[in-house]
Amino acid sequence: NTFDECPFPAEVLDEVRKSGFVKPSPIQMYSWPLAVQGKDIIGIATTGSGKTVAFLFPAFKFIIETKAKADDPTLLCLSPTRELAVQVENEAHKFGREAGIITVCVYGGVGNKRDQGRDLAKGCHVLVGTPGRLNDFVEGKEVSLSNVSKLVVDEADRMLDMGFEPQIRKAVKEVKDKMERQTLFFTATWNTNVQKIAADFVNKPYQVKI
Ligand code: AMP
Repeated sequence: NTFDECPFPAEVLDEVRKSGFVKPSPIQMYSWPLAVQGKDIIGIATTGSGKTVAFLFPAFKFIIETKAKADDPTLLCLSPTRELAVQVENEAHKFGREAGIITVCVYGGVGNKRDQGRDLAKGCHVLVGTPGRLNDFVEGKEVSLSNVSKLVVDEADRMLDMGFEPQIRKAVKEVKDKMERQTLFFTATWNTNVQKIAADFVNKPYQVKI
């Protein structure tokens, strides 16, 4: 339960030290060993638990070790809102930038579609987005999700509450099949609707409840 034992790239751990993090949070401690082995995870955890870093660091490790190109994204994170998407983007920049991880974020509403499209055209390793805007870009062939082998569904319960189920399902159809990808599924609550969609997305998941 120290960061020194964590198998993450040096640039990432340097940034952790600079941020003054003392030790991994519970969700990180329990999910990292599973995530780095490529296991699917259902994480029942809220904002503030450190879940963002819990799913980002194993993906960074994978991207670096496989020398994935910053072309079509390797990691896709589906987020319910612009605010959350931008938070995830900020964490990915903060901890991944020095390690060469390129992140792009797309969201609707106030988000300038042309600027986002320009960012997408440059390529990225990590794509964070709200489902509607993401699908717009996929339909417009401005991004391909066919290379996504790490899928994060963040705050799944909130996305369902917001009526995004069709958009989530549509986006997930574009990424690699669930037997060929790793899925990290996060939710604050574990109701029947969430359980149903989780069952469709994950393969032999480990459940981590904080
Ligand atoms: P999250 O739950 O991912 O939204 O993270 C909440 C906040 O906790 C963010 O500002 C993170 O940067 C921070 N954080 C994540 N992991 C740790 C940790 N191990 N120790 C201290 N702060 C952390």
